[in-house]
Amino acid sequence: MQFYLATSFIFPRSLRLRLFALCFVATHLPLIGYCAWGLATGRIALFEFILLTLATVIGTTLALFGIGALLNPIHALADALNRNEEDGAALPEVGDVIQTLYAGVHRAATATRAQMEDLTIAALEDPLTGIANRRGFLEQLDALPADQRRGCIAIVDIDFFKQVNDKLGHDEGDRVLCAFADRLSSQIRRADMVARWGGEEFAILFHESIEDEADWTLARIAARMREEPISIVDGRPVTFSAGICCWNGEDIEGTLHLADEALYEAKRSGRDCICRALPAGQQVAD
Ligand code: GH3
Ligand code: MG
Ligand code: MG
Repeated sequence: MQFYLATSFIFPRSLRLRLFALCFVATHLPLIGYCAWGLATGRIALFEFILLTLATVIGTTLALFGIGALLNPIHALADALNRNEEDGAALPEVGDVIQTLYAGVHRAATATRAQMEDLTIAALEDPLTGIANRRGFLEQLDALPADQRRGCIAIVDIDFFKQVNDKLGHDEGDRVLCAFADRLSSQIRRADMVARWGGEEFAILFHESIEDEADWTLARIAARMREEPISIVDGRPVTFSAGICCWNGEDIEGTLHLADEALYEAKRSGRDCICRALPAGQQVAD
């Protein structure tokens, strides 16, 4: 690249002419050397001089044809890259084929990077509600610094959600899921995390909170679900049940399992309630 830039003052707008010039000088070096030696020693022979000149001209012509032929596909590629502009606008008149190629490759790399970022976001986000999905939630937990890996995990499940679908239709079911995700997101702190765990289940990390705090927040959200329902089925507001478990940075799978067991207990206790999991080995309690 340094040589390319250093020689750019020769035919700055055409790589082809620059190559021709370089080739011309290089192939004539033996002839120039021979002439210089002949003049210096007075031993120049006309026949040898003509022969050498002819050979040099033939060699130069061959080299020029060869370079031209080798450059053709590169020019074609540069033109194709130019035409393949995403926004339909061709590149402005660029210096030469290398700049055109470089600009084309740079654009392609930028577009690919943008697509990869979109895919990464899509892989971590729930498309219906716009909040994190299970994978996004676990990655956010993983990304927490070691000294901040603590708090309370809650698994939250909408009660009798199947009835929303059955009685009000699938579209209303989707709307309820979005409204519930909004409600959870708006009622937790900025440092907390919420995700759609799957179906009508959600996970929350109450960051650096004790169980009482997580419980109070969920109880407040539950009260709001009754006062300002996101939907009503058979005259009853849509409610949720939740299981919570404290997390001190240990294996997250174990904590999630305990929170899930506490959720099961909340369902068994009649729904619309919150249950706490006690540390492993002890029984779930209200
Ligand atoms: P429980 O109180 O025991 O949790 O009962 P439930 O009816 O909420 O739970 P169940 O597992 O019986 O039904 C969950 C339903 O959620 C079944 C499924 O069709 C529905 N569901 C899951 N994902 C979606 C979704 O993305 N959109 C809609 N509209 N429904 C969904
Ligand atoms: Mg449910
Ligand atoms: Mg469920």
